[in-house]
Amino acid sequence: MVDKWVFATKNPHKFSEVCQIVGSAICIETLPPDVEEAPEPYSTLYENALSKAAFYADRLRLPVIAEDSGLFVPALGGRPGVHTARLGGPERLLELMQGVQDRRAYFVSVMVAYRSPDQYLFSTGFWQGSIALKPAGQAGFGYDPVFVPHGYSDTVAQLGVAWKLQHSHRTRALHKLLVQLSQK
Ligand code: IMP
Repeated sequence: MVDKWVFATKNPHKFSEVCQIVGSAICIETLPPDVEEAPEPYSTLYENALSKAAFYADRLRLPVIAEDSGLFVPALGGRPGVHTARLGGPERLLELMQGVQDRRAYFVSVMVAYRSPDQYLFSTGFWQGSIALKPAGQAGFGYDPVFVPHGYSDTVAQLGVAWKLQHSHRTRALHKLLVQLSQK
């Protein structure tokens, strides 16, 4: 029998990506609509992912997979990083990067599969790329229209969701998590 997990996100794009990535390896359920949103008060993705997972597992009394992710831009001192969800979107990022030559950037996804305070697993996925000069493409969400993966000249939003699901930070983190879960 496959394990059943709640995937703790209120972002329908993230949930859809995760369902497609895990396929039939595990069974993923969404958060109930009436559950309050977990705070993300910490300064690292690890602490936020763990506290989010514990928050929902405690309320739902179910095993939970939670993720905290962010986009890190070295030329901006690593910003927006752990605060990516609060930056204000791709247009705001492009404003901050006006005149910036070094456009390198990377996404990080930290996943936690949490059963109890003494039973949880972490995994991390990185995705290197750069920030485009202007948004392009329609697919995906968030910063996909301005993120150009390393070795490509199109944005993720142009390359499409099927392509993204083969390469993204989320895909890498989740694959590593699935390997760990299959060894338990
Ligand atoms: P959180 O993980 O829900 O805290 O969200 C982090 C923020 O990073 C999201 O709101 C998006 O703006 C951005 N982000 C995370 N993953 C992706 C992605 O795969 N594509 C584009 N933006 C992303």
